[in-house]
Amino acid sequence: MLVVMKPHASQAEIDAVIEKIRALGLSPHAIPGAQRVAIGITGNKGALEAELFVSMPGVADAIRVSQPFKLVSREVKEEDTVLDVGGAKLGGKAVAVMAGPCSVESKEQLLEAAYGVKLHGATFLRGGAFKPRTSPYEFQGLGEEGLKLLALAREATGLKVVTEIMDPDDLAMCVEYADVLQVGARSMQNFSLLRKLGAVKKPILLKRGPSATIKEFLMAAEYILASGNYQVALCERGIRTFETMTRNTLDLNAVPVLKALTHLPVVVDPSHGIGLRKHVPAMARAGVAAGADGLIIEVHPCPEKALSDGHQSLAIPEFAELMQQVRVIAGAIGRPM
Ligand code: PEP
Ligand code: MN
Repeated sequence: MLVVMKPHASQAEIDAVIEKIRALGLSPHAIPGAQRVAIGITGNKGALEAELFVSMPGVADAIRVSQPFKLVSREVKEEDTVLDVGGAKLGGKAVAVMAGPCSVESKEQLLEAAYGVKLHGATFLRGGAFKPRTSPYEFQGLGEEGLKLLALAREATGLKVVTEIMDPDDLAMCVEYADVLQVGARSMQNFSLLRKLGAVKKPILLKRGPSATIKEFLMAAEYILASGNYQVALCERGIRTFETMTRNTLDLNAVPVLKALTHLPVVVDPSHGIGLRKHVPAMARAGVAAGADGLIIEVHPCPEKALSDGHQSLAIPEFAELMQQVRVIAGAIGRPM
């Protein structure tokens, strides 16, 4: 249920509703909006009676939320969520670009990538320190050393750092260094990790599982919000289909569908989505045209030498060209970059 407060409801009236929800043994989630505050309720087993709240002072309405995902749904919050990551925005009108190597490999590699992507307009630096590799014999990432290099690159460039959290045991360490914590596709339904991320005060970039439906994706995000962290962005990174010519099938259908169902920002990852360097720009352009709020793109100073995902990483000049094209597309649909 969603309790919608009147536009000028006082803090005391809002607090009284929150207290009443707690007294019923349920969890209140105050959702500030441009016009009024709404309070989402979770934890109830069956439907709640609107009469419990509608007669309270300052309450405009109490509405049943029809979707199984509640806090992430547009029914609960009509306006887009805009994440403010130390001044770098994700969501809202502008399109944000996150770029950088698949894995952090060395100081030289990371700084070259960071300066390159910054020069051409990225505002976030991506780079994995803990890598979810299919084979245990492949490069697994530099761990804390990689996180330290990401922090160094942030210092040098001002870019905000996005990096993957894989093991809940590494959470405190990742929170210390990262600006945005990425949940990898393989971890999308690691519910205990999602719950722990609910207690974190940093934004989360949740990637869609390779076999997850849009509903399962939204339910995974719901875990994070229901656990107390409302700063979540969703990332479409391709799903597994019968097609073998491409690494995954980038499900661009998901972009407008998600944008209609949820207020959370939607990011497209064309690199993992298609997995082929020469086709990444086409899918990046298509992602923006489809309405994505952001792109996350793998860029490496020397893709041939990358320790992971070199075959889908753009060199810096390719990224530069792509950014020019994407700016035109964003402009054509009224979105600044
Ligand atoms: C990555 O971003 O490098 C990554 C491993 O992505 P995904 O979890 O989408 O496979
Ligand atoms: Mn990768």
